[in-house]
Amino acid sequence: MKFGGTSMAGTERIRRVANIVRAQAARGDQVAVVVSAMAGETDRLVNFCREANPMYDPAEYDVVVASGEQVTSGLLALTLQALGCKSRSWLGWQLPIHTIEAHAKARVEAIDADALIASMEAGEIAVIPGFQGLSEDNRITTLGRGGSDTSAVAVAAAIKADRCDIYTDVDGVYTTDPRIVAKAKKQKAVTYEEMLELASVGAKVLQTRSVGLAMREKVRVQVLSSFIGEGAPPADDLPGTMIVSDEEMDELVEKGLMERQLVTGIAHDKNEAKVILTRVPDRPGAVANIFEPLAAASINVDMIIQNVGRDKGETDVTFTVPQSDLARAQALLEDRRDSIGFNRIITDSKIAKISVVGVGMKSHAGVASSMFRALSDRGINIQAISTSEIKISVMIDEDETELAVRVLHTAYGLDAKD
Ligand code: ADP
Ligand code: ASP
Ligand code: MG
Repeated sequence: MKFGGTSMAGTERIRRVANIVRAQAARGDQVAVVVSAMAGETDRLVNFCREANPMYDPAEYDVVVASGEQVTSGLLALTLQALGCKSRSWLGWQLPIHTIEAHAKARVEAIDADALIASMEAGEIAVIPGFQGLSEDNRITTLGRGGSDTSAVAVAAAIKADRCDIYTDVDGVYTTDPRIVAKAKKQKAVTYEEMLELASVGAKVLQTRSVGLAMREKVRVQVLSSFIGEGAPPADDLPGTMIVSDEEMDELVEKGLMERQLVTGIAHDKNEAKVILTRVPDRPGAVANIFEPLAAASINVDMIIQNVGRDKGETDVTFTVPQSDLARAQALLEDRRDSIGFNRIITDSKIAKISVVGVGMKSHAGVASSMFRALSDRGINIQAISTSEIKISVMIDEDETELAVRVLHTAYGLDAKD
């Protein structure tokens, strides 16, 4: 069972969570619980790091930001004890949860689950802070924002759990963010592949890595709400959204429980920034010179456009990076202005990426053109486009995000009928 930040925000809500956990245990299940920091706490801690040192060392950033989950894991264990349950917290370094890769975006490599399993077998409810792990050189790491979902799936895989229930502040995965489109529809099931794509383009209900991990480790994941009353159906009745394999989805469709859809969902992402390098030499190796230093600094580049060359063998190159990496990317590129040979660097953080996702696109033409038409009918200008087998993304002005999501939701016939 995993509980997100809104579910853990304050002792009152933690008591509600403890009651849900106790009810699950009372059904005869052994449970491990993964918790997030209280809503807003991680942002607060990130800001402290920025104030202390704008070019902060990611290893020390991890020490600071991992602390939010330490607090909530202890508080949940205390609250469960107050309700008469046996409970113990297990911090990332205590299990440990081994991670590799960069600080602030570490990846789980392995979890020693022996102590955890022994404690659960002794009748204790195990509480594990999400988001944190331990690096090869024994330092605290964190898994990237939203990483508690990944901690939960990793723990579920390590203890071979029957199911990983992700409790959050919405009661499932919707056709788009229900906070933006009131007519968004809750889905009974979504395939791993679609969820992976939706998460990677900004549907923050699950962290992307958690979905990839669940797919690889065959963990059954359900997304459901922790804001439920006494009479709510138990999680075992699957009231939320199940993340399923393609085969399971086919069965659900055959049974008439799901409709086959062309488009599963629409997501938006306001956390990217656009970078334009002007007058880059139009010759082999030029783009490699731009992207190699960014890759070496673990900066993920997303959309890339190389414009048609203009006079004098020059071209403009446009791409996006996470806003949080923009300052670093800019500094790295400025340092290499001569070797890359560009003229100007122009950046813009006021952009958004809107994406339409659906496996139906593999076999249907016209999904992209309806997207472009629907946006143009509302006067929304497209600055860049990228596609994959089951996704189309466009870059637009950030101010038009909500309008674009609503327009596309209607255009693909996803609006719930009231
Ligand atoms: P938690 O703190 O529980 O991890 P998050 O804030 O990370 O919760 O994720 C839940 C939020 O994801 C919801 O409140 C909702 O606004 C947002 N969201 C975005 N896209 C979707 C979607 N397609 N379906 C459901 N929720 C979505
Ligand atoms: N507390 C962390 C964050 O806000 C991890 C999480 O909540 O999943 O990103
Ligand atoms: Mg989250």
